[in-house]
Amino acid sequence: MAKKQFKAESKRLLEMMINSIYTQKEIFLRELISNASDAIDKIYYKALTDDNLVFNKEDYYIKVTPDKESRTLTITDTGIGMTAEELENNLGVIAKSGSLAFKQENEAKDGHNIIGQFGVGFYSAFMVADEVIVTSRALGSDEAYRWVSRGADGYTVTPAEKDSVGTEIVMKIKANTEDEQYDEYLEPYRLRAIIKKYSDFIRYPIKMDMKTS
Ligand code: ADP
Ligand code: MG
Repeated sequence: MAKKQFKAESKRLLEMMINSIYTQKEIFLRELISNASDAIDKIYYKALTDDNLVFNKEDYYIKVTPDKESRTLTITDTGIGMTAEELENNLGVIAKSGSLAFKQENEAKDGHNIIGQFGVGFYSAFMVADEVIVTSRALGSDEAYRWVSRGADGYTVTPAEKDSVGTEIVMKIKANTEDEQYDEYLEPYRLRAIIKKYSDFIRYPIKMDMKTS
């Protein structure tokens, strides 16, 4: 597939993320965990009205897997997943949900810690990663697709393999520079602290998987 370009406003936001005007890089984890939780919620709510769908609580979780060897941080969820079209529409443009504008407005009133609370969404992954690979299989589909992007230069969506419904997000964590440290996002204790700080209220289990490769 030919590389596709992000929409203009998405591109601007992306560039801002990549150039990291943003100081609190750690919030990327909050954003990805909240998306994972939203994706599980979608199955939960669907199950309330769909007799063919049973929601067994123990099947639904979010997993965080740091791997120092490969310098990857992977967030996996057993949520509703995305079709190829949804990967395009949801990750290729700024979320249409309006939650960004909503949060901006409300936190401006609040006045404190605007930056920290500001819902920046999926793109915040590019603050800490130079490549993001999203593999997803939507509920009710046996096909999976992979969205790959290195940031502002666009993205591709191609067919992939995935055994179960849900989404896996692999972030290739940036190398340390003189000014910026990224290694900490591969440290389990640091990740645990970030999760405790921002995601304590998430109602699905957040597991930490230690990869021993
Ligand atoms: P928001 O969460 O405010 O809608 P995001 O940028 O965080 O904005 O995410 C954009 C969209 O991408 C979400 O609305 C959702 O449709 C989709 N998405 C992101 N992560 C996941 C995921 N883990 N599972 C399913 N869909 C996801
Ligand atoms: Mg979000």
